[in-house]
Amino acid sequence: LVVISDVDKHYGDLHVLKKINAVVNRGEVVVVIGPSGSGKSTLCRAINRLETIDAGVITIDGVKLPAEGKALAKLRADVGMVFQAFNLFAHKTVLENVTLGPIKVRGLSKAEAEEKAMVLLERVGVANQAKKMPAQLSGGQQQRVAIARALAMDPKVILLDEPTSALDPEMINEVLEVMINLANDGMTMIVVTHEMGFARRAADRVIFMAEGEIVEETTPEKFFTNPQSTRAKDFLSKIL
Ligand code: ATP
Ligand code: MG
Repeated sequence: LVVISDVDKHYGDLHVLKKINAVVNRGEVVVVIGPSGSGKSTLCRAINRLETIDAGVITIDGVKLPAEGKALAKLRADVGMVFQAFNLFAHKTVLENVTLGPIKVRGLSKAEAEEKAMVLLERVGVANQAKKMPAQLSGGQQQRVAIARALAMDPKVILLDEPTSALDPEMINEVLEVMINLANDGMTMIVVTHEMGFARRAADRVIFMAEGEIVEETTPEKFFTNPQSTRAKDFLSKIL
């Protein structure tokens, strides 16, 4: 579904993505893990074209990522994104946050979008917060709204970049539960996270990145119990 071929990216002199090759199949959950600065977020942003790339090709469902314009907007709508900082629209209610995209981009009527939004808010366990403003919600609730907002666009794939790392410990699990349910429902997901429990329970594959390269790509079981590279061993010894 997502094919990344020989993707290269520099920020000035800094080589942040070095010939990245990866494939994410439909229904697969891929966890991306690696030290700070290894290029995980840059890769996610490239897949959504929030970031340009210098070389290589990214295709989504067989369509090459276009550079700009309507085609880009359409393709971007197929790629849901959830960030570390919840990034909800602060001046819109929870419900409006979830209905805005479907109305504007997918052409749903307000009533259709609201009906759909309520189903999704129910699914992530915050339907009773629909009329509130984001600031009135806990971090975990806001992040679940952000997931509902991404799902409202019927994305083909959803990218989550450290979705729990800004949360207080007691809120992490409620967000991970939602993510695990999504994975079990067959959603195609790319998740940057250091949550080993999530990786073990939900991931089909782990991609370990270091210094702009994919160093290891294997099952969660193998990665966490028997990492092959020195860099992965070093990294795991620090986070476990
Ligand atoms: P973290 O775990 O801290 O989120 P990461 O793996 O997501 O790290 P990236 O955010 O992709 O890492 O950053 C990769 C490298 O690119 C880092 O060295 C970072 O400082 C640099 N970088 C990121 N964004 C920019 C930018 N807009 N301009 C210049 N350098 C950048
Ligand atoms: Mg990052």
